[in-house]
Amino acid sequence: MKELNEEYQKQNEQIIKKNDELKELHQQLKDKADELEKQRIKAVELTKVKSEFLASMSHELRTPLISILGLTELLIKDGSVVVKAKDRLNIVHRNGKRLLSLITNILEFSKFESGKIEVKKESFLLNDTLEEIYPNIHQITSEKNLELHFDMEKNSSVLLNTDRSKLEQVLINLLVNAVKFTEVGSVQLGIKLINGSDIEFSVTDTGIGISEENKKIIFSEFKQVDGSASRKYGGAGLGLAICKKYVELLGGTLSLQSTLGEGSRFYFVLPEAVLDVVEIKEHQFLTITDPEKEKRLTKSILIINDNSDSQKLIGDYLASYDYDVIITSNSDDGLKLAKEKLPYAVIFNPFINEGNLWSFIPSMKSYSETRYIPIVLTIIVEEEKVGWEPGVFDFIIEKINFNEFNELISKVESHFEKNIRKIVFVDTNHDEYEAFKKSFGDTFDVAIISSSTDVNKKIRNEQPHLVIIDITTFMEQSLQIIYDISQDRLLKNVPVILKLPKLLTHDQVERLNIKFKEIALTVKSHPMDVLKVLRDRLKIDDDVTNRKNNLIEEVYTNEQKNYHLKSENNKDSKPTILIVDDNNDALFTIGEFVKEMNCNTIFAHNGMECLLTLNHVEPDLIFLDIMMPQMDGFETIKQIRKEKKFENIPVIALTAYAMLDNKEVIEKNGFNDLVTKPINSQVLASKLKKYLKAKVG
Ligand code: ADP
Repeated sequence: MKELNEEYQKQNEQIIKKNDELKELHQQLKDKADELEKQRIKAVELTKVKSEFLASMSHELRTPLISILGLTELLIKDGSVVVKAKDRLNIVHRNGKRLLSLITNILEFSKFESGKIEVKKESFLLNDTLEEIYPNIHQITSEKNLELHFDMEKNSSVLLNTDRSKLEQVLINLLVNAVKFTEVGSVQLGIKLINGSDIEFSVTDTGIGISEENKKIIFSEFKQVDGSASRKYGGAGLGLAICKKYVELLGGTLSLQSTLGEGSRFYFVLPEAVLDVVEIKEHQFLTITDPEKEKRLTKSILIINDNSDSQKLIGDYLASYDYDVIITSNSDDGLKLAKEKLPYAVIFNPFINEGNLWSFIPSMKSYSETRYIPIVLTIIVEEEKVGWEPGVFDFIIEKINFNEFNELISKVESHFEKNIRKIVFVDTNHDEYEAFKKSFGDTFDVAIISSSTDVNKKIRNEQPHLVIIDITTFMEQSLQIIYDISQDRLLKNVPVILKLPKLLTHDQVERLNIKFKEIALTVKSHPMDVLKVLRDRLKIDDDVTNRKNNLIEEVYTNEQKNYHLKSENNKDSKPTILIVDDNNDALFTIGEFVKEMNCNTIFAHNGMECLLTLNHVEPDLIFLDIMMPQMDGFETIKQIRKEKKFENIPVIALTAYAMLDNKEVIEKNGFNDLVTKPINSQVLASKLKKYLKAKVG
């Protein structure tokens, strides 16, 4: 027993020892794992930082290039430029374009890495896309004397449901490559339907071909077959990598067949992308034109903006409220026009290429006639479909002129219908503040904030009626302060005045613009939201209130008579579609389409009528125009969704602006879907089918 016990003791000790060893090993492993995890987190962070840097840099690179290209193009077209100079300009232009496409690819690629790419499904006719691509490719094939074939049926087209712009980019990339690497023969785009729901695209060329070995690498990023410095063909080797990723995002795989010296064929199948094959009738694309409008308001508004999309968006919106819209793309002309026409307001996009906001404002303020014209900033980042309206009520120019200041105060008081007692200055110029206090100390309660920490909190503590921010004090941070004020529950209704020096340096302007953009991207409000703020700032609503009231009465009496009839008629099982559009032509055409789909139609000319109609009938679906006078689509849908019983009615937005085609915005506002004008009957039909399921044939 004793021996056994001793043996047992010994074994036990060994076990304890082994156990300790194991514990130590375990600890070591844990340390290693921790270390690895730390390294992993660091690597992830680094990749993210890199991608973000790349994304923002590429964007910064593109902006100047666009003006370089634009101006070169103008010079090439300019009759007074001598031929020799034109030859040189052509080279500048060609190389600029090459650089632009490289940068675009890098930008695209970095978006993948930072996970910012999203797939946007939409319904469209394939022929429309092909017709857009064809002329560009045709131009480069004819320069090289190559034949070009597009498999495109004249009398029918495929109605697809996929991400149109991504598909377009893939096809363009493959076609451009095919042309680039082919010296004689042809380039062909093939299209084949499979099982009625899948579709295959192929791009075939008779060019140099790709070797077995190279087939393995060309889909990887930054890889080109010829890696030598003096390569014959330009490019960064990103095109195919992007195509491959895009095709995968769309549910397919990009494949390649190629024989060296004979040619290549790139192909992919998009599964379940086909909605329908439709016959193309003549005149099926309708352009909806504005009807003649009676002039109800004669106010003019000046828009200074050089982006044609947002010009049109803002211009059309204001025109829908019957303002005369004057548009110019540079601030010098803007100033001339302002003096000449004395508009009701100026709407300024700070990103214009010619001239700048910060010299425009002091000039406007230095003339007595233009001094009182409101200047509203609209920051719209077209490519991201977002915008921001900083809500700055007015501007004053250093040094404060006390007479003008008095006038400004009365303007603020009448606009906001309140008395201004307490004013906060965000300013480091104590001299000016003291002078101000001396003159106005009796009239106003004034406070100054001159350190940059917790500015917002400090403002909140003061509970001011007005905030005056000197932009030179915190420069771009001022914009952040303005934004924070607008987001603060207690401060958001406090008017903000921006104090400016006579001139800002180029560098300062750049910094402000970058900040503008940054905020617009973070607030993620939509260009349409910008218009809503604009409407409040200009009190556009007030102008139409009277008309609106009249209209309600008018509609009520007219429509009440009709509803009884309509609901009687409605006893059949046909679905009822309510179409809301201020344009009679649009109402008529959409109505015709909808009737053809075996549905009943009811019309309303604006949001107000739409809501009134809903008191009497419950439609199965609503088509709602976004831009309408009196009450726009956004306001209307808000009212519709407030009612429990209307919660589930599908509402499809109608708009003529590609810029509004943003899924997030559509959903955020309560719409189910969106159809862009000009209205395409196939798209309309497919939407009806989708939302009414079995009810339509
Ligand atoms: P890049 O953007 O530089 O054109 P891509 O990723 O589009 O890069 O292409 C990578 C490489 O694949 C090209 O440099 C070329 O060598 C090869 N390649 C692409 N398309 C073809 C083609 N149709 N025929 C022959 N080679 C091709």
